[in-house]
Amino acid sequence: MYDSYSSIPELHKSRLIQMQSSNDIPARWNGTPIASFIQAQNFGYPLHVNDQPQILISTCIEFRYALPIPAKYAYVIRTAGGRLIGQEFAVGYVLTKGVKNIILIAHDDCGMAKVSQAKEAIAKAFVQQGWDPAEALHYVNQQAEVLAIDDELDALEHEYYRLKQMFNDIHVAPLFLTLNDKRVHLPKWYHERISARDAQPH
Ligand SMILES: [Zn+2]
Repeated sequence: MYDSYSSIPELHKSRLIQMQSSNDIPARWNGTPIASFIQAQNFGYPLHVNDQPQILISTCIEFRYALPIPAKYAYVIRTAGGRLIGQEFAVGYVLTKGVKNIILIAHDDCGMAKVSQAKEAIAKAFVQQGWDPAEALHYVNQQAEVLAIDDELDALEHEYYRLKQMFNDIHVAPLFLTLNDKRVHLPKWYHERISARDAQPH
């Protein structure tokens, strides 16, 4: 049997829970487009669309990843790093269109975790486009403060809590994609603190 778990980089393996069948999807997402998305991404299930998308998917600009969704399935925002910082207005907008779920997809080997090495080259790219060198450097440093991350999983966790604080009446699903097998996994912290508790008696 194909062992998808072996494809998860060591760095992240101990911090993720794999979803190998529909039973592994947290019960709180049953019947939501979050569960359907995970089934499509991990198991190749088809996605059904209707005229009212109920989901916003936020992921990275990463070129090695294409979302497995047809037209009319979801609103999509792709940013460097996949977080919704600076996109809160767009979130408010899709709420007015019936969205009740947000999927946040982080991934391994993200360029935003390597910004410190790339800053000089990015500033140079602006200069080559006609920017003043000092302005370019200032802009790049300023944006790097906002967009650079140290660790993809930590950044996902922080973004989850930031969004839940701002939008407390919708599902936010933090998922972690491994690029080499294109599967999404559950962060262990989410399972332990949130989804595992659903199953316990109150
Ligand atoms: Zn990325």
